[in-house]
Amino acid sequence: MLHSRVTVSFGRAIAASRSPAFRPISKLSLAAATPTRWCSSSSSSSSNQPPLPPASSPSSRFSTPTPSKAEWRAMAEKDISKYLSQTHDRVFEHNEKWAAEKKAADPEFFVKLSAGQNPEYLWIGCSDSRIPAEQITGLEPGDAFVHRNIANLVCNTDLNAMSVITYAVEHLQVKHIVVCGHYGCGGVKAAMTAKDLGILNPWLRNIRDVYRLHEKELDAIKDEETRYNRLVELNVFEQCRNVLKTASVQQSYAKNKFPIVHGWVFGFNDGLLKDLKIDFEGILKDIQKIYNLTDA
Ligand SMILES: [Zn+2]
Repeated sequence: MLHSRVTVSFGRAIAASRSPAFRPISKLSLAAATPTRWCSSSSSSSSNQPPLPPASSPSSRFSTPTPSKAEWRAMAEKDISKYLSQTHDRVFEHNEKWAAEKKAADPEFFVKLSAGQNPEYLWIGCSDSRIPAEQITGLEPGDAFVHRNIANLVCNTDLNAMSVITYAVEHLQVKHIVVCGHYGCGGVKAAMTAKDLGILNPWLRNIRDVYRLHEKELDAIKDEETRYNRLVELNVFEQCRNVLKTASVQQSYAKNKFPIVHGWVFGFNDGLLKDLKIDFEGILKDIQKIYNLTDA
């Protein structure tokens, strides 16, 4: 059990709760959904082998379940090769269909796309495969500049994230910056696990820091799922604060009154986005007591 092995400092809060909410999880289960199973009766090389998923078709491209680990182990080598070939090829098949549909709907679509970008939004989200920014928001190519990483973190030493924010604000002049987390985030759950996760340790420590900052509030929540969900929200809140600590955002807002920073959380249960309605201006004013990077 986790609480019998808690040794790190943050863990005392969790250990004290004796909560089974933060169970150890394997490295491979980070951000993983409940594994799906494929149960096609399509052809297979052997009756003892699991059947291959159905050949790709436009309607099945994004719904073909991935074989489970057990099914992988049971598959013949040639079936594995066939499966990998199918899943590789279907991406290109879909790309051709998508390009044709776009061009049919608007013959100038790619002419306009190649002219340059002027996105309204910078989207900072989790790398989780189940939360494609454009698809859940109805945004089109060109609408959002997107940055994703495990648990939608904004770290001041992350050259990637800092470059994305600077470019989006100073050059693209985005009007909104959205930090979007999601309930059931495997990265957040992993961070709350008493386990050495190797190279992930320094990354996930940022989330442990969020827990430490809000330890009192989180420890007061008795229901485990509610506490975990709240940590997801608080992580989004803290990453919004980190966005507001950047010079590019502070200086642009002082000059232009944009970008506005938003904190959202996506829920798998209903597919809806929840706006945390952060007090953007209040937070900015508050953090500028210490982190002011404008000339004012
Ligand atoms: Zn996640």
